[in-house]
Amino acid sequence: MAELEGLEFGKSDFVLLDEVTMEQFMENLKLRFEKGRIYTFIGEVVVSVNPYREMDIYGKEVVEAYRGRELYENPPHLFSVADAAYKTMKRRAKDTCIVISGESGAGKTEASKYIMQYIAAITNPSQRAEVESVKNVLLKSNCVLEAFGNAKTNRNNNSSRFGKYMDINFNFNGDPTGGHINNYLLEKSRVVQQQGGERNFHSFYQLLRGGSEEMLQSLFLQRDPSFYIYTREGTSSEDRSAHKAVLTALKVIGFRAQEIDSIYMILGAILHLGNLEFATDGESVRVTAPQAVENIAILTSTTAADVSKALLFRTVATGGGEVIDKGHSEQEANYGRDAFSKALYERLFSWIVSRINAVIEVKDYNPVLHGKNTVIGVLDIYGFEIFDNNSFEQFCINYCNEKLHQLFIELILRQEQEEYDREGIPWQHIDYCNNQIIVDLVEQPHRGIISILDEACLGVGKVTDVMCLESMDSKLGQHPHYTSRKLSPTDKSLEFQRHFRIRHYAGDVTYSVEGFLEKNKDPLFQDFKRLMFNSTNPVLSEMWPEGRLDITEVTKRPLTAATLFKNSIVALVDKLACKDPYYVRCIKPNEVKSPMLFDDARCRHQVAYLGLLENVRVRRAGFAYRQPYNRFLQRYKMTCEYTWPNHLMESDREAVEAIVKQHDFHDDVEYGHTKLFVRTPRSLFTLEQERAAL
Ligand code: ATP
Ligand code: MG
Repeated sequence: MAELEGLEFGKSDFVLLDEVTMEQFMENLKLRFEKGRIYTFIGEVVVSVNPYREMDIYGKEVVEAYRGRELYENPPHLFSVADAAYKTMKRRAKDTCIVISGESGAGKTEASKYIMQYIAAITNPSQRAEVESVKNVLLKSNCVLEAFGNAKTNRNNNSSRFGKYMDINFNFNGDPTGGHINNYLLEKSRVVQQQGGERNFHSFYQLLRGGSEEMLQSLFLQRDPSFYIYTREGTSSEDRSAHKAVLTALKVIGFRAQEIDSIYMILGAILHLGNLEFATDGESVRVTAPQAVENIAILTSTTAADVSKALLFRTVATGGGEVIDKGHSEQEANYGRDAFSKALYERLFSWIVSRINAVIEVKDYNPVLHGKNTVIGVLDIYGFEIFDNNSFEQFCINYCNEKLHQLFIELILRQEQEEYDREGIPWQHIDYCNNQIIVDLVEQPHRGIISILDEACLGVGKVTDVMCLESMDSKLGQHPHYTSRKLSPTDKSLEFQRHFRIRHYAGDVTYSVEGFLEKNKDPLFQDFKRLMFNSTNPVLSEMWPEGRLDITEVTKRPLTAATLFKNSIVALVDKLACKDPYYVRCIKPNEVKSPMLFDDARCRHQVAYLGLLENVRVRRAGFAYRQPYNRFLQRYKMTCEYTWPNHLMESDREAVEAIVKQHDFHDDVEYGHTKLFVRTPRSLFTLEQERAAL
């Protein structure tokens, strides 16, 4: 058994703080970070602080130390959580999930990878080939998803620009048999535009820097990323080696040669699209570089004439049922080109995910023959975002966090209750902050912000962002969590006319309504869809099924981006809600990626909005601490004359009772079927101190 940590490293469980105050919480967090202890428990929740340096704590011996152990037998670690989730799944045949949250750069994706590696390491001891192959695909999928879904941002050099939920399926042996990935809201605007100092998705640079001469030639590409408008910003030396790793991963996963070629042809086409410019000659608009159109046509297996037509015209149905081609203005052509590039990339990404899913999907599983098929879900999703300028994307992401926070509170309480029931301990209701009112503010039918946005998007005539804001003001003016410049004219933080503010559980966020309607509508001319559907490359055509439709058949009211996102998050929450949850709460110690710096104010802010103090309180409101009798006895037997040097009792439980009585905290405990439950941590301090003094 691994040595438990000494007190000089601070308290390994926040539940053991003398008092639950922000000061004590921060002091302990900081002390542990400075001592290189990046993980701390709150009961079964692990709080993690990004170390920003290589830690030698994920090796084989460490895996062995955590394998099959109980949480409290080892210092807090991601492996504790992974093992607990795995054990529950295996022993109780229950589906479990591990929810990893925290802001950009806090370490979520790294944590999710260590957790998957741990699960891979402890399963399939007999090395059965088919299980090994499933594990391999699951692990390799990370490399591909990161290449296409991650980018360098100002906050994180490898920032996930999408949310990811991965189910891993297990057979009755507890070995992985397959899985399924859901992806959420890829930040596709990045394809056409990045903020200063940020990059496009890694995949573009990897192709340009790492692709073979032959490959680049066949895609008509130059090697220098700065040649392309979409990739003008920076490149790194890692791009080249990463390209090879991604190619290998794609092959291992089982992408066919034609599919891999198609992926790179689409990337190439997007880069060429980005460099297309338009000019106006008299009445008509034209493309200034016809060669690029040729290249795009070849790469997308279409004709130059068709590409050109889709870029310059759109088919519209007139009132009389006639169909005509209407020429774009230069501005419309520019807009259409970028919308097309974004959509191409988004489809490509979703298609890659669906191809991985097709490979890892559990096939031929017969529950009668094979026993119950259980699942561990791992969620790595964007945390709360508060920027200087918050837009539609932050609105969606923060709504998602409201939903997850609600689930967190609900599930943590439910889990507590279930354990008390199992152990035969009476349950007392615990009061907690309920954020349902904020969730309603966003998602309620007819009255919530999403509904109001959708209504504005469907309105006839030109509805502007400001008109939409006015509609929100009139409908939500009374809501305690909503305000705007118009409603609170003297409020300094609502400087601009176009701002509204939501009081989120994690703090106030001011959103600029500019661009909300456009982003919510997310229009793409049907002409592009049809162009892609008609591609003679089956891979591409498959990505655009609705291109089959004629303009007169196209539904005028497709679901909006916000509604699609809401639906996917509601489905996610439903999925999580029926599982036994485990949580990893990640904290980013500073803004400068330093392994030394613990920025007090920044950390305090995260602790507050992750609701960690509340978490400690919920845990302590019931029973702060619980341990199986034999473990408790092991740890504290030396503090009692009836149990040391020999224990003279009939059972472990009686021995534990003797310890409790001798230390006079009988009123502070309940005896469960297998565990001792301790209400306040005070009693345990006494024991710990005595133990340390011996
Ligand atoms: P985003 O929301 O932007 O995707 P994230 O929470 O997923 O952010 P990560 O990409 O996991 O953040 O971590 C950011 C960086 O921090 C990593 O690239 C790595 O350099 C460092 N890091 C995170 N966790 C660890 C760890 N456990 N050990 C060493 N370095 C780490
Ligand atoms: Mg990430």
